[in-house]
Amino acid sequence: MLHYKNGEPAGLVTNIQKYTIHDGPGIRTEIFFKGCTMRCKWCSNPETISPLRELGVYPSKCVRDDKCGLCVKACPLDGAPIRFDGEHILASLAMAQACADCLRCADECPGRAIKLWGELMTAEELMKIILEDLSFYRRTGGGVTLNGGEVLVQWEFAHELLKRCREQEIHTCVETALNVPTEHMEAVFEYTDLVITDIKHMDPEKHRAYTGAGNELILKNIRRAAELGMKLVIRTPVVPGHNNSDEEIRAVGRFLRDELGGRIIQYQLLPYRKMGTEKYDSLGQPYPMGDFVPPERSQWEANLLHLASMLQEEFGLPAVPGSGAKLEL
Ligand code: SF4
Ligand code: SF4
Repeated sequence: MLHYKNGEPAGLVTNIQKYTIHDGPGIRTEIFFKGCTMRCKWCSNPETISPLRELGVYPSKCVRDDKCGLCVKACPLDGAPIRFDGEHILASLAMAQACADCLRCADECPGRAIKLWGELMTAEELMKIILEDLSFYRRTGGGVTLNGGEVLVQWEFAHELLKRCREQEIHTCVETALNVPTEHMEAVFEYTDLVITDIKHMDPEKHRAYTGAGNELILKNIRRAAELGMKLVIRTPVVPGHNNSDEEIRAVGRFLRDELGGRIIQYQLLPYRKMGTEKYDSLGQPYPMGDFVPPERSQWEANLLHLASMLQEEFGLPAVPGSGAKLEL
């Protein structure tokens, strides 16, 4: 999917984070793109799922006690897309369907309760921001990481942006779920130095139950990425009740050892964390994991350590708990 801004190709971006250290080596600028091909129940970035711009409303920031109503007054549609619910103002289906996307409501809101998710940015605009921190990348072995959502939904733009980074000799990393057409992946990998991707379960049906998609295409693409000689960091978000047993993690370990020809830089076992619930509220969506209560920190830390040691011993894999261990590229 290719977007345009004033006639030029553009990426639809939800966030740019500077000085990140967990998604690739060194200090990085990380860019989050909109649009995703999966529906993981534990997703903490629901604003990246839709491939289109959307308005979010934070009910907690609305002036509740004396609703000012400035948003309604500013709306050229007489406030028709905006719906109040009790004390709050909420994003409703009507907003998504009828809104003229003019953002006058957001501009007028004194509490900044209304937020636009998704900004169109050209490669030139993004490169300007990326290049501000060139000295940090050089000193720390860092660079740029493209993330999402699923950045490969916007593969043409990602290809162009990474090409420009390569021209500036900036290290490039793509974090992707790889549930995308193989040819799109191959095109983007032409300018990618490091790939971070997930294996969420080896059983296709369990994978589908928690992510909305089977794992066949993902595993095919990971094998292909290894064949292409890509450096791979593989992650598994370890979710209690979904994939946290020894046998389920061993199944991933077997695949990594037997099918990827030693291309793994690191295998990271990540904890499930209940995050992003306010963003779900802002979009008027329920949190998909419902009121699931995550285990205590001491419990999940011990389990991740146990799983990582098991994979090191049984499969000789560079398995680690979390994403903080140094990457030996
Ligand atoms: S973006 Fe414009 S049309 Fe949409 S709700 Fe706000 S003021 Fe109304
Ligand atoms: S303008 Fe902002 S604070 Fe005022 S009613 Fe609308 S959302 Fe609430």
